[in-house]
Amino acid sequence: MLRLTDLKLPLDHGEAALTAAILGRLDIDAAALTGYTVARRGYDARKRGAITLIYALDIDTPREAELLRRFAGDPHVQPTPDTSYHFVTKAPPRLEHRPLVVGFGPCGLFAGLILAQMGFRPIILDRGKEVRERTRDTWDLWRKRQLHPESNVQFGEGGAGTFSDGKLHSQIRDPQHHGRKVLTEFVKAGAPEEILYVSKPHIGTFRLVTMVENMRATIESLGGEIRFSQRVDDLLIDTDAAGERHVRGVTLASGEQLRADQVVMALGHSARDTFEMLHARDVYLEAKPFSIGFRIEHPQSVIDRARFGPQAGHPILGAADYKLVHHGKGNQGGRGRSVYSFCMCPGGTVVAATSEPGRVVTNGMSQYSRNERNANAAVVVGIEPADFAPFDASGSPLAGIALQRALESRAYVLGGENYSAPAQRVGDFLAGRASREFGDVQPSYQPGVTLGSLDSALPDYAIAAIREALPTFERQIRGYAMHDAILTGVETRTSSPVRITRDDSLQSLNTRGLYPAGEGAGYAGGILSAAVDGIKVAEAVALSITGSLVPT
Ligand code: FAD
Repeated sequence: MLRLTDLKLPLDHGEAALTAAILGRLDIDAAALTGYTVARRGYDARKRGAITLIYALDIDTPREAELLRRFAGDPHVQPTPDTSYHFVTKAPPRLEHRPLVVGFGPCGLFAGLILAQMGFRPIILDRGKEVRERTRDTWDLWRKRQLHPESNVQFGEGGAGTFSDGKLHSQIRDPQHHGRKVLTEFVKAGAPEEILYVSKPHIGTFRLVTMVENMRATIESLGGEIRFSQRVDDLLIDTDAAGERHVRGVTLASGEQLRADQVVMALGHSARDTFEMLHARDVYLEAKPFSIGFRIEHPQSVIDRARFGPQAGHPILGAADYKLVHHGKGNQGGRGRSVYSFCMCPGGTVVAATSEPGRVVTNGMSQYSRNERNANAAVVVGIEPADFAPFDASGSPLAGIALQRALESRAYVLGGENYSAPAQRVGDFLAGRASREFGDVQPSYQPGVTLGSLDSALPDYAIAAIREALPTFERQIRGYAMHDAILTGVETRTSSPVRITRDDSLQSLNTRGLYPAGEGAGYAGGILSAAVDGIKVAEAVALSITGSLVPT
């Protein structure tokens, strides 16, 4: 197969136009085109009203060799790359201890799946419940203001990404095409086929729930075991004669101990008690930067119009997304801060995402159709370990958690101490006055919002940075700083506040056999990158058990 990239066609082209474009670009006649498949389809919306689709196509032609010679040096006519996944090894007939995977989010799920597919029969533990029960528990917070601290948006089968927009794009370097393996497994589990080729794939919450169940069944059919409501509360560690620490298993909240020489820690960014346990056990951790801010909501039609102009509403384009960044001037005291949009959810809702009682945290989700009336995204300010000191001056690697907890508790109080979130209209926020009533935009956050001033919800430098950024975003998306747009707070769990640092073998810097992985360990951000990290860690675990590469 030959891959032809960067083929541009108008948004409303037909099948014949695509065929004609291929024939013209390769300068061949119809008889030389046996067939083609779309490898990727994106769009260029920079010229509103004249949006183009950009294709990468895999071309089946008997003249492949000749064409590759003729177009040698043309970066857009190349052999189709081999993106198929190859297992690095396979399990020995007898395993002394089965590997343990802690966490069944995207990272643990893929670590478990790959280990199971190689024959290692992993045991996977998650503190939360299976996904259907978990869905009911999560709705209890959204509808009845009842939080289940072990079964919520953050904890349980499928991990943090289950109630989400299910966006699957990522900026990670992926020379081994692990992302392709992730997407292929998602399609096998029930995701729409288009995620294999559209440039910004998404799945939506409803389908994710069923997919996660299907993937659990696959792992179990391969001899893996998944145990829910099993929180890991401690690690078994011993030290050898050379002074090297080795993990030997885990202790569960029930007191049960499970022996293992390989433990994957795919905890997610909200397992604060588990980070505390790791720190108490002297596992090497360090504080890392993350971001804090608010969710912003606009009518989706405002975003569609600003991004797509007269072509807004076209079925191929769907609900418009955006990505914005502003590098602050620093004229509000101190250095300039970067403010950026994050986790944008077109046609979605803002959700209550706390896992701790007495705290309020926002996030966003949507269904596959993305047809809710509002667009939402986090608008966040980058912060660094030096910013954590006012909340925990001890220099502990966990200081970022102290900052998160303080802001989430303050948001709870500002919201009325009943899991409502504090909110403010953008116009009022920019003018520095409290909001008293809604305008044209109704917030989607459940169980509700309390209008007022958000000025005390974040440190002053973050409020100043967001105030500076919103008018500059207005210049890129007309209507962005509209008076009635709603800010809801607080967004504090944008990524992990700690890194469980690992070495080249993907093991903890100071504890052999412990494999920190995914978002909680600071090695991923988002569903796709967490899943890819799970694959990498599964390969490292498998190789450490077999000691050899046995490509299959
Ligand atoms: P997690 O998914 O957080 O999974 C960690 C798992 O570990 C959890 O199930 C937890 O219960 C379990 N666990 C924790 N501690 C223990 C313990 N001590 N013992 C046993 N189990 C434990 N990303 C995107 O790419 N696209 C999106 O559209 C998107 N939308 C999101 C919407 C929401 C509402 C949220 C909350 C997140 C969203 N994200 C999105 C982020 C994405 O979900 C995460 O990046 C991703 O889930 C991280 O995967 P992970 O496996 O590393 O961790």
